[in-house]
Amino acid sequence: MNQIDRRSFAALSGLAALGGAFGLPSRAAADDDSSTPRPARALRFAHFTDLHITPDRQSEPGMKAAFAAAAADRVEMILTGGDLIMDSYANKRAQVDREWALLHKLFADHCAVPVEHCLGNHDIFGFCRSKAELKGDEPDFGYARALAELKLAQRWRSFDRNGWHFIVLSSVEPDPKDECKYLCFLTPEQRAWLEADLAATTLPTVVVSHVPIVTITPVIRGENVVRERETVVTGDYVHLDSNTLHGIFRKSGQVKLVLSGHTHLIDRCEADGVTYCCSGAVCGGWWKPTKTYCEPCYALIDLFADGTFTYGIRPTGWKNT
Ligand SMILES: [Zn+2]
Repeated sequence: MNQIDRRSFAALSGLAALGGAFGLPSRAAADDDSSTPRPARALRFAHFTDLHITPDRQSEPGMKAAFAAAAADRVEMILTGGDLIMDSYANKRAQVDREWALLHKLFADHCAVPVEHCLGNHDIFGFCRSKAELKGDEPDFGYARALAELKLAQRWRSFDRNGWHFIVLSSVEPDPKDECKYLCFLTPEQRAWLEADLAATTLPTVVVSHVPIVTITPVIRGENVVRERETVVTGDYVHLDSNTLHGIFRKSGQVKLVLSGHTHLIDRCEADGVTYCCSGAVCGGWWKPTKTYCEPCYALIDLFADGTFTYGIRPTGWKNT
């Protein structure tokens, strides 16, 4: 195993001890136990991940359905999970322009609640320079384009809402060995920021990361590489620093829920009081019929004043054909 493989395997090895449940879409809230009285709800929001908006597939009617379903669920906020547009990683500028334009139109016309965005690997402009036909010195190269499109000051940030703290991570970094690949981890700068940010809050906290920090989806769906005595999940699929980040979350004691996307699959893993959820994909299988990935869906989350939450997967009602 090379160094990356070892780190990936270390993250995966921990999964066996974590346990977890593989959830399928249901219109019923997943863990809403009505027999248990709860304090007043602090916030209801939707986690929309992996939208992959493009004018070339069915994302316009599909996104309208998703916004309508979230409105019917009376969400007060949408927290996205990245991969907002189909792809700007390896696409040329004219196509990327079309995708961002449609995204802005859809959110302006069909979303009436505040939106907080998280960035995914497909939102990074031209990292694969040869395919995108960029040099890398353009002012909107890399993360700059998405930050400008979304009017964000920086890749990672935090904010408070209704008595809860939200941390938005940005963990996709270029693979130094291959310009068209990437690896997922927090740089020392972002990791130090995360530790300081968590130390400064006493509020129950939701973390969102495009790429999962802990997930069982790769081994469930056979996305791992199995060799004679090892199983490997690559660092473009799951964070390479899962063990470190879980330790930071445990030490804080404030982190209740860690949301991600990226795999277009659904799972829920609980470990040491931290719940890790992959919320599927609003686009399902990239706006095409699929038997491999989830159907178009989002997560509906209620946060309560006592630091508890409920989490359930909701079909958008759109079927890709
Ligand atoms: Zn995606």
